Amino acid sequence: AASAMLADTRARQANAKRGRETARSALKQLLAGMIGEVGALQQHAGGFESAIERHAAAVESADSLEGLTSVVQAMLADSRELRSAVGASHERLLRDSQRASELETRVRGLEAELGRLANEACTDALTQVANRRGLEQSFNETSARAATNGTPLAVGLIDIDNFKKLNDRLGHGAGDVALKALAAEVRKGLRPGDDVARYGGEEFVVLLHGLALAEAQQALTRLQRKLSASLFMHEGEEVFVTFSAGVTEWRAGETMEAAIERADAGLYEAKRTGKNRTCTA
Ligand code: GH3
Ligand code: MG
Ligand code: MG
Repeated sequence: AASAMLADTRARQANAKRGRETARSALKQLLAGMIGEVGALQQHAGGFESAIERHAAAVESADSLEGLTSVVQAMLADSRELRSAVGASHERLLRDSQRASELETRVRGLEAELGRLANEACTDALTQVANRRGLEQSFNETSARAATNGTPLAVGLIDIDNFKKLNDRLGHGAGDVALKALAAEVRKGLRPGDDVARYGGEEFVVLLHGLALAEAQQALTRLQRKLSASLFMHEGEEVFVTFSAGVTEWRAGETMEAAIERADAGLYEAKRTGKNRTCTA
């Protein structure tokens, strides 16, 4: 189902990209046309100017009323012609500029759609935190930064305690609510720059930037203490959820999987020694 959804997202992405290119080239053509129109108008105005000069000379040299009348008539005809040319041009420019702003809106809409689709492909639909793909992206960026700056990067693996029991007791729907609420709590409890991702069913990975092992353990333990309040209400009943965590420091050059595997050893230790705690590895 996930790969079908991804294929669908990709198809929609390709569609939106094509639409954006079409709209963009239409906009370019339109602007080229408008520039041509302004050029033609300038030429027209230039012609009018030299006609005015001619008329002025004719006025100077006119020696009869009849002569002046014909100059005035010629001037009127010229100015009418210019006015109608300007009017027509103005209408065309107005129409084109309306069309240009329609195209611009369309390009903007498609850009937003592209952004949304890219986001969707990296976000877990239930919890609205990153999925594995999003996690990989964040990890690639943050590990590169950590390596360059020589700063630590802590990798934590979180697993909800006794989640099967919660599902069995309150139903799968309540389990889903718990997953959503926990993801939100973890997100809220960490610093805005840290990354949270759903790694599997009821497992989450956190990337704590710049934290060494002991600080990362403290941060996760703080989060666990915060959850001593109920997570949400289910049919008038307070639901409490705890999690266990393993945390490790990323070692420059190693893959994300290698770091998570080590964090998993810490998680195993936390489960083994009573749950609702964070162990380092
Ligand atoms: P432990 O404290 O040792 O982690 O016990 P546990 O019951 O949490 O661990 P276990 O791995 O046995 O069970 C995990 C459960 O998580 C099993 C599965 O039904 C449930 N689960 C996984 N994904 C989802 C989900 O998307 N929604 C719901 N409601 N439950 C899920
Ligand atoms: Mg599990
Ligand atoms: Mg569990």
